[in-house]
Amino acid sequence: MAEDRPLNHDEMLSVLEWYRAAGVDVAVGEEPVDRFAQRPPARVTPPAAVASAVAERPAPMLPLGGDPGEARELAARAQSLDELEAILGSYDGCGLKLRATQLVFADGNPQAQIMLIGEAPGAEEDRQGKPFVGKSGQLLDRMLAAIGLDRTKVYIANTVPWRPPGNRAPTPEEIALCLPFLHRQVELVAPKLVMTLGGPAMQTVFQTSNGIIKMRGKWSEVSIGNHKVDAMPTLHPAYLLRNPPAKQQAWRDLLSLKLKMIGMGIA
Ligand code: URA
Repeated sequence: MAEDRPLNHDEMLSVLEWYRAAGVDVAVGEEPVDRFAQRPPARVTPPAAVASAVAERPAPMLPLGGDPGEARELAARAQSLDELEAILGSYDGCGLKLRATQLVFADGNPQAQIMLIGEAPGAEEDRQGKPFVGKSGQLLDRMLAAIGLDRTKVYIANTVPWRPPGNRAPTPEEIALCLPFLHRQVELVAPKLVMTLGGPAMQTVFQTSNGIIKMRGKWSEVSIGNHKVDAMPTLHPAYLLRNPPAKQQAWRDLLSLKLKMIGMGIA
């Protein structure tokens, strides 16, 4: 039976940590409000002039106030990855930044011939400021090692560089606001091969609404920003952790990557 006593300091911290991990990280008031107990506000009919002004206002495309045009213009200014990271660090157009601990820009070798693109940083990535350092990152490292690769031989980034609160999927608007920066990142690294990890990264990079199961393991030439490159989607390591039998398919994709590297003389 649950004890009825006040929480001690450590218990309070763990409750707060539980809320933070679930994305509840902003205090909006000192006292809890029972919204279910509140009556819905009476409907007020606005004066005709206000109603028509509201009706004429174009629907906001980007509720967070960002503008992909501005993001494109900022990203294009970067002449190096360091400049791009600095520009992204001071970019406030994407609301994900507000809730994240820090920017998760990239890991690995910027001179690598192979670039991996994941979806979004998780809790551990947010803490350390590096992509794929949590459980799925550890599996990714083992997958890379199986074909003789490690983080000195690949460059790793995500479609969005800030952790979405509570590990939710990034929205299409958030992805659109970050995409010009990913495009510039790919242009500056100029990899010979790209492998995307998971469905959302595939859909973003290949500009498709197809599912990962249909597309995985297939190479095609894509333009990422102004960089044309052979790319292949594979399954996300987090999915493989939840579905170990799917590792068979991921293994085939890794062998395909290895063969492609051999064929291109970059193994
Ligand atoms: N999943 C991702 O897609 N990216 C990360 O960096 C970590 C987990």
